[in-house]
Amino acid sequence: MRGAPAPPERAGGVNLFLADAAPGGALAAAREAMRRVFGFDDFRPGQEDVIAAVLAGGDVFAVMPTGGGKSLCYQLPAILRGGLAVVVSPLIALMRNQVSQLAAMGVAAGCVNSQNPPGENRRVGRLARDGALRLLYAAPERLLLPETAAFLERCGVDLLAIDEAHCISQWGHDFRPEYLQLRDLRAALGGPQTIAFTATADAATRDDIEARLFDSPPRRFVMGFDRPNIRLAMAAKNGADGQIARFVAAHEGESGIVYCRTRRRAEDVAQTLRAAGHDAVAYHAGLETGARRAAQDRFLREDGVVAVATVAFGMGIDKPDVRFVCHADMPENVESWYQEIGRAGRDGLPADTLTLYGVADMARRRGHILQDGDDGERKRVAMHRFDALVALCESHRCRRRTLLAYFGEASEPCGNCDLCVDGVETVDGTEDARKAMSAVARTGERFATGHLIALLRGERTGKVAEYGHDRLPTFGVGKDRSATYWRAAFRQLYAAGCLDMDIVRFGRWLLTDAGRRVLRGEERFEMRADAMGRRRAKRKKTPAPAPAGPVDDALLDALKKRRREIAEARGVPAYVVFADRTLIEMAAHKPRDRAGMAALHGVGEAKLARYADAFLAVVAERAS
Ligand code: ADP
Ligand code: ZN
Repeated sequence: MRGAPAPPERAGGVNLFLADAAPGGALAAAREAMRRVFGFDDFRPGQEDVIAAVLAGGDVFAVMPTGGGKSLCYQLPAILRGGLAVVVSPLIALMRNQVSQLAAMGVAAGCVNSQNPPGENRRVGRLARDGALRLLYAAPERLLLPETAAFLERCGVDLLAIDEAHCISQWGHDFRPEYLQLRDLRAALGGPQTIAFTATADAATRDDIEARLFDSPPRRFVMGFDRPNIRLAMAAKNGADGQIARFVAAHEGESGIVYCRTRRRAEDVAQTLRAAGHDAVAYHAGLETGARRAAQDRFLREDGVVAVATVAFGMGIDKPDVRFVCHADMPENVESWYQEIGRAGRDGLPADTLTLYGVADMARRRGHILQDGDDGERKRVAMHRFDALVALCESHRCRRRTLLAYFGEASEPCGNCDLCVDGVETVDGTEDARKAMSAVARTGERFATGHLIALLRGERTGKVAEYGHDRLPTFGVGKDRSATYWRAAFRQLYAAGCLDMDIVRFGRWLLTDAGRRVLRGEERFEMRADAMGRRRAKRKKTPAPAPAGPVDDALLDALKKRRREIAEARGVPAYVVFADRTLIEMAAHKPRDRAGMAALHGVGEAKLARYADAFLAVVAERAS
């Protein structure tokens, strides 16, 4: 607060635990506050270190995976200290969500933005001025307005928390120019303690964030990236609609997201899923604001809604009980893929994912990267990141291990990915690889997959006749194999770097040096047996989470029903009332009184006071 008038007396602080905490006991006080306010038993890995560092003062930069529990790292210090924390976030949906969750726990939090109902921004401003607000959420554009910054400076800001800090870096996938001015904002606020968070993994981006945001190096924490509760699976597209339908059907009644590349496709897939009896809603930037908001609200508030969306969806969707994520098309790169599937299972319960990929996806993405007007370096980086995703799709070994290795972490096979569970068989594909590449070579590297497959399978199409390709020695050498098989062969050759695709002349195959070595018989070529058209065993449903005692399913249904009623009456998402995990524990432990209720995950003082009786009644009714 350099040179600023003294901030007004703090009033109305709900939880000023620190006021009487013994010196050095700050962390114990934090733990106590976490239990009382949030109802969490323990810190998640990394949270304790970050919170201790924040409480000790000084700037902090923390890299935490999605779902790692970043928000607690600034919410708890804000609650403990009783001062004002300003939280910068790019996403209104996320801010709203956190504010309503905090309000449900009795914490004074507010959010100022252009979409607020009239009067709300003023109300929040008054609370801040009176020292009664613990957390104020706002988008950078608003904070950067001179009058906002001046107002906050007068209120006195104790902590500046910057979420999604990678938006400051041009290396990141989500650059936002306003973020570049946050350093000025910080100065305008009198240089309060600053903590920044991101879930972006790579080292270049991390360094960039640090250099752009802080005057001197902050304390840096990098948490592990593993999300062991998320099952990983990837499959080559082979009747994609059926693959999506089967995956969603295996998750009947659960909330999930299906990501599609285009708006059109999102509409189509949503339609197909609805026809199959699922509660699916489309979500994309082409919908008008009202419809988009309605789709998002339904997804957030109701159980078992499937959002079929373009990647515009989910940024800032802080719904902890998303049980599955399906990519109907290949994502941009490993990082965006991981961020997208990371929206599943934030509550730590088992979640399932399926990523579909195909050669057309690969060609399209590479085409986009090449056509991007940017300089060579950015292109190179983008291509490298995409290639890492292709390699992950076609991987022969544990996907999590490959993924974590990309983020610089060593690990053992995980036992929770399709390759660990179903195994992967490789076969010697040298001979077929040579047939396919010979077709490429003998036609002068001028043709795409479709024509080459016709040639290999000995089909006398018009194009084959036109070019006289039925006279080539390669004509018909692959007729014992299906077209699907040959498509997989081309894709694997591409993934392995034996074939290259001419993006400008769409889809024309070119031989690489590695490909020529296989063609000349100098190197072998291993193919994944399953990718070559052999179907996998039917997927099992995600195992139900196993809490202490057996879960009474009928009771769980009744508890969910009560939750839905309360949520609807209060106009909040169901999980704001109680998380799935809380209800599952309730259905297992069957608490008889408030003490038993308070012992459950996610039951803090405010929720105990507000909801305990309603849920105890359900338990008692069922038990009698
Ligand atoms: P992110 O790091 O992605 O921002 P959040 O802060 O939204 O993650 O936390 C993800 C979920 O984990 C939320 O539902 C939150 O309530 C829960 N959570 C956070 N910390 C803990 C904890 N220590 N114990 C149990 N649940 C937690
Ligand atoms: Zn694995």
